[in-house]
Parts: sequence; C-alpha cells; structure tokens
Amino acid sequence: MNEKNQNRKIIPKLRRKILKTSEKRQRKISIVIPAYNEEDSLKPLFIELRKVFNEMKDFEFEVIIVDDGSTDNSLKILNEIKREDDRFKFISFQKNYGKSAALSVGFKYATGDLIVTMDADLQDDPHEIPNLVNKIDEGFDLVSGWKKVRFDPFIKKYTSRIFNFVTSLLTGIKIHDFNCGLKIYRKDVAHSIKVYGEMHRYLPVLAHWNGFRVGEIVVKHHPRRYGKTKFGASRFLKGFLDLITILFTTRYLRRPLHFFGTLGFLLFLIGFAIDFYLAIEWAFYGKYLTNRPILWLGILLILLGVQTIAIGLIGEMIAHHAQRVEDYHIKVLKL
Ligand code: UDP
Ligand code: MG
Repeated sequence: MNEKNQNRKIIPKLRRKILKTSEKRQRKISIVIPAYNEEDSLKPLFIELRKVFNEMKDFEFEVIIVDDGSTDNSLKILNEIKREDDRFKFISFQKNYGKSAALSVGFKYATGDLIVTMDADLQDDPHEIPNLVNKIDEGFDLVSGWKKVRFDPFIKKYTSRIFNFVTSLLTGIKIHDFNCGLKIYRKDVAHSIKVYGEMHRYLPVLAHWNGFRVGEIVVKHHPRRYGKTKFGASRFLKGFLDLITILFTTRYLRRPLHFFGTLGFLLFLIGFAIDFYLAIEWAFYGKYLTNRPILWLGILLILLGVQTIAIGLIGEMIAHHAQRVEDYHIKVLKL
C-alpha cells in the first residue's frame, strides 16, 4: 500500500522532469559559410568559431562550409579541418557558381533549428553569434547584421549606402544593411526561400514578403585580412537588376497585369491628355496640327500604353498556367 502511494507521487514528478528536459532539448545551430578562394582565412576562422562554440555550451553546432569551386588550397585545408573536428562539414562545388548558389546548397544540408550565415574572409565576427541568437529569441524569424562601422574601400562604402537606401525605400523594409554576410534564420525561413542568381543581397526582402519578421542588430566588422574581394564594380549594376527581378517575382509574379497595367494605363493617359488637348485646340480655335510636334509624343505614348497593357495580359495568361500551390508558404498544417 505504502509502496503504491510512493509510486503515485514519483510518476508525475518523473513525467514533469522528462517534459522539462525535452523542452530544454539542446538547440542546434548550423553555420553556413560560402568560401571562394579563401585558403588563408579558413584556419583562423576555424579557431575563432571553436572559441565561440566553447562559450555557448547550451547549443549544439554544425558548420557547413560551401567551397564555391575554389582553385587554391581550400579543399586540402577543409579536409584537415574536418579531420580535426567532425562538426565542421564541407561541400565542394565542381566550379564557381556564386555566393547565392553556395548559400542555397548550404541551407539544403543544414539540419539546425537556427541557421547562421557568415562570410569566410574573417570580415564577419563569429563572436556576434550569441547576440544574433538573443535577438531571434525576442521573436524574429530572421535577424540581419548591420555593419554600422565598416572597413571597406571608400567607394564601396558609399555605393553600398545608396544601394541600401534605395532598396529600403522600394521594398518598405526598415533595415540599414541588406548585404551583410552575417545573418541568422529560423530553419523554416532558410528552407522556404529560394536563392539563385545573385539574390543573396535580398534575402531579408524575400523573407519579409513571405510574411516573416525581419530584425536587425549592429555587428562588428573587420577589414579583409587575406585575399581580395570577389565582387568587382559590376556588383552595383547587377544588384539593381536583381532588385527589379525581386520586385517582380515576389510582388507581381501572380499578378503581372497590376504592374504592366498600371504603367501602361499611365502612359496611355498622358498620351491621350496631350492629343485630346491638341484636338480641342484644333476644333475650337482652328490651330493646325501639322506644326505641333508634341502630337507625335501623344501618339507614341498611347501606342506604348496599349502595348504595355497587352504585355501584362500575356503575363496574366502565363501566370494562370504556372500557378502552383507549393508557392504558398504554410505555417501550420493540421489535417
Ligand atoms: N563568395 C563565394 N562565391 C563567390 C564570391 C564570393 O562563395 O563567387 C564568398 C567569399 O568567399 C566570401 C563571401 O562570399 O566568403 C563574401 O565575398 P567577399 O568578401 O568577396 O565580398 P565583400 O565582402 O567584398 O562584399
Ligand atoms: Mg568580404
């Protein structure tokens, strides 16, 4: 009888304990690092990361270094690193596909609850990882670093500032540094957004438009210690072309007529107003149209407007056939 009573007390206690430990299951952080010809940086990065891991005892870690077709000694060094610490995994591309490709493949293989991305060139500081985690625990889905004080060449600093200003204006996201390599994602964010081309600059935009909460913290930034930057002056133009693609594929993919229709209608309206005004003057005041060159502008705008609307309609036809339910991100599914 006594024993039975005791059991009755112990079992709920045990159950509570099990529940508590399962709640407190160690969270796993995957760190995805794209690296292209960064042979000198890999070892120091490895050492710094291990220091951080030792400080963050509550977490389990894995590192996925994506060697983006390096032609230097990176592969050999990566093998050495992996041999020394099993948590450091790597994927090596056959050729150089670009940072976005490296990130998306890294995301694919990352198994963590949280996914951190950082550059391999030691410009991003791994000691910011605990701060990123704290911020995400405040209820964000993606937290981006902001290199408030940055150590980059003069011209890059300023073009980057313009780039960030315009992107923020056009996308409506209030962050200061879209292209910071150091970011943290909840796993569903990283696994549900598609990165290709050079879209890595717009990951916060993609996340925001898919309904995720995007935050920002100031992070430390360092000058490049070894090697050189992999993006030349063309980054500026390419960045803006990618912004158009992003605006298009996220905002208007399912409703192309809203974009082309608005633009076309506007052009048509301006053209029509010009020619209507000229026609009135001709009808009531007898002003000849032959010596009024602006007539041609009106005609041009009307034609252009009609054609732009027509392009939108063709876009609608394509969108209609290309509609896929997989494109909608589902948060909870209880069937
Ligand atoms: N990177 C890459 N593939 C590329 C270009 C760059 O994986 O084709 C990596 C690079 O090794 C680095 C990160 O992306 O870890 C950022 O590149 P970089 O430092 O050259 O850019 P910046 O700091 O000048 O913006
Ligand atoms: Mg860099």
